Amino acid sequence: MQLIIQHLSKTYANGVKALDDVSLTIPMGMYGLLGQNGAGKSTLMRTLATLQDADKGTAMLDDLNILTQKDAVRRVLGYLPQEFGVYPKVSATDLLDHFAVLKGITKGSERKELVDALLHRVNLYDVRKKAVSSYSGGMKQRFGIAQALIGNPKLIIVDEPTAGLDPGERNRFYNLLSEIGENVIVILSTHIVQDVMELCNNMAIIHQGRVLYSGSPTDSVAELKGKIWEKSIAKSDLPTYQQRYNVISNKLVAGKPLVHVLSEFDPGIGAADAAGLGASDGGFQPAQPDLEDVFFATIQGDTLLVR
Ligand code: ADP
Repeated sequence: MQLIIQHLSKTYANGVKALDDVSLTIPMGMYGLLGQNGAGKSTLMRTLATLQDADKGTAMLDDLNILTQKDAVRRVLGYLPQEFGVYPKVSATDLLDHFAVLKGITKGSERKELVDALLHRVNLYDVRKKAVSSYSGGMKQRFGIAQALIGNPKLIIVDEPTAGLDPGERNRFYNLLSEIGENVIVILSTHIVQDVMELCNNMAIIHQGRVLYSGSPTDSVAELKGKIWEKSIAKSDLPTYQQRYNVISNKLVAGKPLVHVLSEFDPGIGAADAAGLGASDGGFQPAQPDLEDVFFATIQGDTLLVR
């Protein structure tokens, strides 16, 4: 089974081009769709979940046309939206039972068995009688996965699932997702690089509605080997460094910016001479590249990593 998206485009009425000729081939397993806020992820997720139309393009799940055979797609789809809306004050058991009815599982005994199994699976069985509205963020997300799993979906779409989860909740959620993603396609949209790193064999980086990279996270990181240099600098020097070097990211480490520079060679050497600073402007250390480097380099349109 695979999902093939070709030339998908969508421009909203206000003129925002949210999807710009998106083409992707998504195999079984966990697939990460990584992009900043506003990149177009939810638009793509909602389109694949048959909730909105594209202007152009196709999306095929094997022989099933997602854009035209919506009812058939919904029968094999599990969707965990970014915003679930307001949860009613009903118990997890009752709410899951209700969703199961909506999914067409009419036999009461079958539903009870399914609901109990799902509650065990997402580790909410002990709190099944509590109102879902009283759950923590992580519990709500696990409940969301339980409802998405009703009816054994082949395609599971999870939109920004870990935003707002604390580290413990995030870990529990990762474990749950990684168990699910073996025999189905799970598309996980996120702006959190760690989500993709920990869970996904394949990914795409989307920026301003366009796919800038698709491939395996590990391969993309390997492409940057030997090209990332880091240096801890004074805060006041940051603008100068950003001007002088190809700084792709900076983060505070012990209160000081640690800059990451993308360069084929030690960036300190030539630039320091050119700036008349002498060798003292060196001090860059080779750094182990990671997916965050890939992400920032890609969305800045860096030519060292263009697919
Ligand atoms: P992401 O999920 O990556 O944050 P979205 O798909 O939500 O991105 O949004 C992509 C772009 O489309 C953004 O600029 C957003 O403001 C815009 N957008 C999203 N939904 C609508 C809408 N219903 N009407 C107009 N613009 C929208």
